[in-house]
Amino acid sequence: MRVDLLTCGWTTHPGAVARRGGGLRSVRFPALVAAVHHPTGVILYDTGYAPRVQRAVGRGVDRVYGGLLPVHVTPQETALAQLAALGVAAVDVTTIVLSHLHADHLGGLHDFPAARIVLDPAAVTAMRTARGLDRLSRGWLPALLPEDVTDRVLDPADLPRADVDLRPVTAHARVLTPEADVAVVPLPGHSDEHLGLLVRTGGTDLLLLGDAVWHTRAVTHGELPHPVVSLITRDWAGYRRTVADLARLHRARPDLVLVPSHDTDAIAAARARLEGDPATIDPGDHP
Ligand SMILES: [Zn+2]
Repeated sequence: MRVDLLTCGWTTHPGAVARRGGGLRSVRFPALVAAVHHPTGVILYDTGYAPRVQRAVGRGVDRVYGGLLPVHVTPQETALAQLAALGVAAVDVTTIVLSHLHADHLGGLHDFPAARIVLDPAAVTAMRTARGLDRLSRGWLPALLPEDVTDRVLDPADLPRADVDLRPVTAHARVLTPEADVAVVPLPGHSDEHLGLLVRTGGTDLLLLGDAVWHTRAVTHGELPHPVVSLITRDWAGYRRTVADLARLHRARPDLVLVPSHDTDAIAAARARLEGDPATIDPGDHP
């Protein structure tokens, strides 16, 4: 089972905001999309940025969002375009797991109309009904949701429990495939609905972390973001608890490859690991 880690646009943050000790320089936050070429169909973890996000943050109060988090993406960098270059059509994508509903994760969702969407349905309702400053402070752009999202949402709570031990992070991983080699993992804090994804290629176990942490050093060295980030974090105590649990999991399972969505070095290391992983080398490219 091959896994491609794609960078679909990027934004910037001051280094010291993203990570204590990160310095004053602005750092790039790549928008990660993981494409899991599973025998049952292509599974995406997140959908990255797309030019429609730039249009969405160019209007009204949402210009504040675009000013704080400038969106950099070209049509060639979208998940749709990069998958097409790999020979994967939009309709080949059968499942999309959204880590959460922020624009750098949600931006490409319109491009995959055939996929079921794994996400807490309550988050969709909350996003659609939020207004004004509440909506802005939660970083939500409802225009990025397809009209038929409610019909396509699959509640992770309705999936079978996974027989994997990721304690203390969770005892509630949920299986997404008949082979139980892909599982969604609740990682709450950054947002209520936040999900990670466990992918077991046969050679490597990857745990895609989304925004549960912005940098692997939060897990390995306790370098949390600047406290100002607590203002845009849904549940700061829950966020810190998830990071502490991930640190304990990392000590117990150092073989598990942790991939935060916005950590350039961790993404490069995971790509190198996958390239050397015989289980992921698939000359047929995709099913
Ligand atoms: Zn993000």
